[in-house]
Amino acid sequence: RVDLGDRSYDIVIGSGLLAGCGEAIRAVSRGKRAFIVTDDNVAPHYLDIVRTSLEQAGMRVDHAIMPAGEQAKSWDNLGRLLDAMLAVRSERKTMVVALGGGVIGDLAGFAASILLRGVDFVQVPTTLLSQVDSSVGGKTGINVTQGKNLVGTFYQPRLVLADTAVLRTLPVREVLAGYAEVAKYGLIDDPHLWDWLESGGGAAIARLDEQALQRAILASCTAKARVVASDERESGVRALLNLGHTFGHALEAEGGYGGPLLHGEAVAVGMVMAFDLSVAMGLCPPADAARVRAHLAAVGLPVVPPQVNGQPMNAERLLAHMASDKKVSDGKVTFVLAHGIGQSILCRDVDPPQVLQVLQQAVTVT
Ligand code: NAD
Ligand code: ZN
Repeated sequence: RVDLGDRSYDIVIGSGLLAGCGEAIRAVSRGKRAFIVTDDNVAPHYLDIVRTSLEQAGMRVDHAIMPAGEQAKSWDNLGRLLDAMLAVRSERKTMVVALGGGVIGDLAGFAASILLRGVDFVQVPTTLLSQVDSSVGGKTGINVTQGKNLVGTFYQPRLVLADTAVLRTLPVREVLAGYAEVAKYGLIDDPHLWDWLESGGGAAIARLDEQALQRAILASCTAKARVVASDERESGVRALLNLGHTFGHALEAEGGYGGPLLHGEAVAVGMVMAFDLSVAMGLCPPADAARVRAHLAAVGLPVVPPQVNGQPMNAERLLAHMASDKKVSDGKVTFVLAHGIGQSILCRDVDPPQVLQVLQQAVTVT
């Protein structure tokens, strides 16, 4: 349960939940109407089962199918989605159902938060990344020319239903990208989780072992729910969840959204960079950084920035992207660094030349 007073909600994790999702969603709905938002990869697999379950629970169902991919998080698509919701005369009591990965969750959540000044929504995350991270915590938003996720709202769902069975149709590369966020929770403050991942848990998740998946999703959601409950709007500890993300967002921006790196892949490279920077600053033993790099590489995640058009990424430009991150305040970037595995800290006193050195080293090791 995510504890937020009268906005508290449950996260339900299990295999085969979709078939019975209608009753669960009906139970948290104020009315009898649902609007499913999904994408054109997810729809052929799961739209019918969710629609049928909602109808069996007595709800009238409309839906919209967005184009798959990061590009869906745009003003244009937000406008189209709101138009589609209004075209079927959605009401204040309509329940928006976000059925898809983090892209659909962020977009549908944002739409729900502004449609008719706010209608309820539930998250039915269908990627590992969205099950362990983006569906919980209430951050919604879209990308704009100036950067990723720069426009959005804090808006909590009424329920999160994470059905591990749907991960069977997810491309392996996407599973691994989600795995990066699981590893992140271990690196932040759960060395026990990290040890398990390193000693076989990671490999079990990569082959979609049901027990390993449920353990990882539960550990991840528990960690995220705790942080969100204590700092919903990210004035303090919630920023720890950005481990690897300041570097990662710069890599995503430099590669272009929908470019060479998936979000989770960028986070994997970013976490390696954060540990390298921690070592360079004398905060962290080199052996811990080496373990991070070795394990992420062993499961099949990238640990160095990819080349773009046959060229290494430009370190100065990456640094410039970091300075325009939305986490910047008073001109300073807040970095998530670490004293070691499971011992992450927030740090605002980082020397830009030192960051540049880490970036330069990373872009040349391709
Ligand atoms: P995604 O939503 O693009 O999904 C990845 C791909 O898998 C897409 O092509 C999708 O169509 C497909 N897909 C989804 N479920 C499937 C299934 N079960 N079977 C087959 N294909 C399936 O990407 P994502 O990695 O889930 O999410 C990334 C997004 O999440 C980014 O935009 C990122 O900014 C956002 N995010 C948000 C938060 C937050 O707190 N709101 C946190 C982390 C990430
Ligand atoms: Zn992330």
